[in-house]
Amino acid sequence: MVREGMRLEIKIDPELCIGCGACSSICPTNAITIEFDDRAASVIRKPEKCIYCLSCIDSCPNDALKTVQHNHVYFTITVEEVQMAAIKCVRCGKPFATYKHAEKVRDMIINKISISIRDVFLEDYKTYHRICPECRKKIRELTPLRYLVLKHEKI
Ligand code: SF4
Ligand code: SF4
Repeated sequence: MVREGMRLEIKIDPELCIGCGACSSICPTNAITIEFDDRAASVIRKPEKCIYCLSCIDSCPNDALKTVQHNHVYFTITVEEVQMAAIKCVRCGKPFATYKHAEKVRDMIINKISISIRDVFLEDYKTYHRICPECRKKIRELTPLRYLVLKHEKI
C-alpha cells in the first residue's frame, strides 16, 4: 500500500527551461545533465538515477522543474530530453550556452542598469554573448593594443 501522492516524478517544462545548467550543476547523482552538440543543447533527465532530493527544483531560476505526484505503485518512467538552440563561440566554434539563457541574463541586466548605459550595454552584448568563457578570458589577457584591434574588427 502506497500512501496517496507518495510517488514523485520530476518533469521539465520545455517552455520554461532556458538550458542554464543550474540543475545539472547541483544534482548529486548526475540524474539531470546538460549536453551540447554542434546544433543544440539538451537538458536530459534520467529518472533511474534520481534520488528525489529536489535540489534541482530549488536551483532552477525559471521554475521549469515541477513534481508530479502518483498515487499508484507503478508508473512508466522515461528519460526526458528538452532541446534548444545553442550558441557557438564565434572565436573557437565550441557550443557553450543557449540563446534562451543568454536572453534571460540580458533582460535581467537591462532591468537593473541605468537607462543611460543601456544602448552601450546592448551594443557590447551583441558581440560578447557569442564568445565562450575561455575565449573571453583570453581576450581579457590581451594587451590593450591587440584588444582594440580585435574590437575594431568586431572580433
Ligand atoms: S531530485 Fe535530486 S537527484 Fe533527482 S534530478 Fe533533482 S537534483 Fe538530481
Ligand atoms: S535549472 Fe531549470 S532552466 Fe536551468 S537547465 Fe535546469 S530545468 Fe532548465
